[in-house]
Amino acid sequence: MSASIFFILVGPAGSGKTTVRKHLLETFRGSLSVCVTATSRAPRPGEVDGVSYHFLTRDDFVQRIQQGDFVEWQETHGNLYGTLKKTLEDARSSGQDLVFDIDIRGALFFRAHFPESTVVLFLVPPTATELVARLRARGGSEEEIRTRLKTAEGEYSIFHANQSAIDYLVVNNDLPNTVAEVEAVVRAERLRCCRHSPERRAELCSLKDSQSGEE
Ligand code: 5GP
Repeated sequence: MSASIFFILVGPAGSGKTTVRKHLLETFRGSLSVCVTATSRAPRPGEVDGVSYHFLTRDDFVQRIQQGDFVEWQETHGNLYGTLKKTLEDARSSGQDLVFDIDIRGALFFRAHFPESTVVLFLVPPTATELVARLRARGGSEEEIRTRLKTAEGEYSIFHANQSAIDYLVVNNDLPNTVAEVEAVVRAERLRCCRHSPERRAELCSLKDSQSGEE
């Protein structure tokens, strides 16, 4: 069994991450699942425990940090977010690859600590003007739009400072095309030599069990 690949889609709000992720999960149903992370924030309407997040109280979250249950965790806007070790172990034993919805700091952590398993894709709208238009189209107050733009600015500056850790820069101009490009990344990444164990590579690239009569 090959190790799970961690596909991490990052990028500013309005880049299309959520929609692309939804398409990936449909296309690769059975071999790709979402990494459900944990948070101390309260569920929003429609969010389901164990599906949207593992919702924990702040005290439970802190206790689990102290127990060493998290691979990584971050505090954002006063709430704690983190990936539980158990979630990754379960994915590994099921042989599934994982797609993550975590922030760019989490993505860089995974890239640094699991370099062979992690693939980071940074999704961007084609222009800054388009980004602003998409954020406006989502609605919300001017204040909320300004906050999202400030967050986007922060993500872009982290991108500039860490470009060697970002594997793919995907321009989301046209959704079907972007989905096809990201699917192509998933397929290509699965073909990397390192995805096969040394034993499997030896078996695949050998004439040992051929009928040629040669050893
Ligand atoms: P929200 O509260 O809107 O669901 O998420 C806030 C931010 O936390 C988003 O950028 C989301 O991607 C990020 N996030 C969710 N889970 C994790 C996690 O386990 N680790 C990190 N680093 N970020 C996370």
